[in-house]
Amino acid sequence: MATTAVGVSATPMTEKLTAADDDQQQQKLKKGIAEFYDESSGMWENIWGEHMHHGYYNSDDVVELSDHRSAQIRMIEQALTFASVSDDPEKKPKTIVDVGCGIGGSSRYLARKYGAECHGITLSPVQAERANALAAAQGLADKVSFQVADALNQPFSDGKFDLVWSMESGEHMPDKLKFVSELTRVAAPGATIIIVTWCHRDLNPGEKSLRPEEEKILNKICSSFYLPAWCSTADYVKLLESLSLQDIKSADWSGNVAPFWPAVIKTALSWKGITSLLRSGWKSIRGAMVMPLMIEGFKKDVIKFSIITCKKPE
Ligand code: SAH
Repeated sequence: MATTAVGVSATPMTEKLTAADDDQQQQKLKKGIAEFYDESSGMWENIWGEHMHHGYYNSDDVVELSDHRSAQIRMIEQALTFASVSDDPEKKPKTIVDVGCGIGGSSRYLARKYGAECHGITLSPVQAERANALAAAQGLADKVSFQVADALNQPFSDGKFDLVWSMESGEHMPDKLKFVSELTRVAAPGATIIIVTWCHRDLNPGEKSLRPEEEKILNKICSSFYLPAWCSTADYVKLLESLSLQDIKSADWSGNVAPFWPAVIKTALSWKGITSLLRSGWKSIRGAMVMPLMIEGFKKDVIKFSIITCKKPE
């Protein structure tokens, strides 16, 4: 069985460890994720700003950093459009949860756009503190709040939110069923759930797993980015179906994010990038070193950038 440096299997999610092993590995993974983001978020913000997710591009002739920033906003807007989230004052979201919120870029954007109340959760204490500070500085302290909490055990009552938002956090979740079950639990009847996440390609008919050379690429990425086993978009769709969610839709946006990693690598290799990386520490440097593998994974079609959306029945 292939094992990553965080001790989590990169074999299909159906393969189970004993409950005690599983728990120990999940704790280790959570600690790694928290430390990774505690260490690297300041550097990311310094170079890339408040959004810690891919940009969405309509063509790949983008060169300026400002274009990448607007592409990150476009990603949020495209996700809302794909999920048909209404702008109508009667129907627009009023309560939003941002699961895996980073330093809160999406939360503040959504709170402003909809005039909604937004709660963000992250494993990283540094991120939660920074997210709250940015909210206060932007005059949003009464609308948005951030705390350290686990997406797999959310500190919210059932049915609280009418938009459940997970932007590039699902790939960190070691138990995808528990993840989507929690997203569903906190969703209000009729709420929209949006998951934008990294997946591996769907398996072909008759295939039981990815090819060894494909798993090798993913395993290297897992250990540096603190990711557990990957799953496919089709796996997510099956999980959502098993929870009787409605209007389940998915799309492959890999082509739309293609300019992102080359741009991140370019900035990492700039003077500012190199000095920030050296200052922030070993975990960030290891993360930077696998960035070319993300490009390889997309080129070889093993990594997919996916959006999966659905509605909780009324
Ligand atoms: N959605 C943000 C940040 C993406 S980075 C943005 O678009 O800017 C991934 C985020 O997922 C980090 O904030 C990390 O702390 C969070 N995360 C990963 N696993 C988590 C878990 N189990 N519970 C809560 N947050 C988690």
